[in-house]
Amino acid sequence: IEAQTVRWIAELIGVSPESGGLLVSGGNMANIVGFLAARAAAGGSRDVRARGLAGPEAPRFVAYVSAEAHTWVEKAADLAGMGTDAVRWLETDDRLHLDPEALRAAVAADRADGLVPMIVVGSAGTVMTGAVDPLRELGSYCRDEGIWFHVDGAYGGFAAVSEHAPDDLREGLDLADSVAVDPHKWLYAPLEAGCALVRDAEALRAAFAYHPPYYAFGQEAVNFVDYGPQNSRGFRALKVWLALRQAGRDGYRRMIDDDILLARHLHGRVEATPELEAMVQGLSISTFRFVPDELRDRVEAPEVSAYLNELNEELRARIERGGEAFLSNAVIGGRYALRACIVNMNTTAADVEAVPGLVLRVGRALHAEKRDALSS
Ligand SMILES: *Cc1c(COP(=O)(O)O)cnc(C)c1O
Repeated sequence: IEAQTVRWIAELIGVSPESGGLLVSGGNMANIVGFLAARAAAGGSRDVRARGLAGPEAPRFVAYVSAEAHTWVEKAADLAGMGTDAVRWLETDDRLHLDPEALRAAVAADRADGLVPMIVVGSAGTVMTGAVDPLRELGSYCRDEGIWFHVDGAYGGFAAVSEHAPDDLREGLDLADSVAVDPHKWLYAPLEAGCALVRDAEALRAAFAYHPPYYAFGQEAVNFVDYGPQNSRGFRALKVWLALRQAGRDGYRRMIDDDILLARHLHGRVEATPELEAMVQGLSISTFRFVPDELRDRVEAPEVSAYLNELNEELRARIERGGEAFLSNAVIGGRYALRACIVNMNTTAADVEAVPGLVLRVGRALHAEKRDALSS
């Protein structure tokens, strides 16, 4: 059942159904599995699993990600023995996509210093704004340069089924050597369910398999112990398998389409609301902030900009305590933003339409209190 679930997930997002893969606890672990597969592969003739990364002859590996990437990369670099200084956080363009020119320059500089580019991580939906990196360009660059290409699709990967997703998402995933997705996000599965997919199943085995005499498993079956760090494992696949059978590709496409369209709908409402400043919209995420009318002409002034950050941070917490809506946050170009991420199949147009009014009501009250406190 797990093998079939992994195959169905691969088919759903458009990567080779022959990929090796397994279910893990979530996106962090799924990404770390891809990262460790990259590490074993990048060692070339040196067996980095046996010899480690210490000592003068050890390759000095480097990982490349956008500055918007999720923090799992730090954990992975740490756990892999490379250290977090080996992570290059690359510049993005103004829509928060990794800039391929910055990647080329960083790889060239590191190679000139004798370092070894080990992995490029593209984001298929960044955690803060849902940005999809230029995956096709990154994939072909990595292929030309012989660098492992990993895609973090923990949040956004499943949007590959949607015609409303960017072309890079629908066409870029099959260029990756490894992909991480999270059924417990956009397949609406209960925690825990992450999935790591590696194009060449042998690369997964090369990163994780050991064969002590007390493992007498038949070689004809997939032994998931050879594919990841866990030995004893729970039956995470069952709930995902059942949900895939129940909803099918069409069901998931409809639900994911709805979420994306709802986020766009919300963003449109925000744009039409004078006291709200629309920021970035990507996949099913809309980010914006509350700007009181009297401050609108002075948002760039340092004291106003600091005040708006504080105001929106408190506003977010107050909305959460109020229990009517749950907004998280993003920080975009130093500006604190409210973040609506629609990943619930039960969210309706009426729900998102209620958000701007709620933010204005709570925001105006909060601003009045803070302004009075300031002047007293
Ligand atoms: C959520 C998320 C992760 C981490 O996934 P967990 O399931 O919480 O471990 C990693 N990357 C991205 C882009 C995410 O959105």
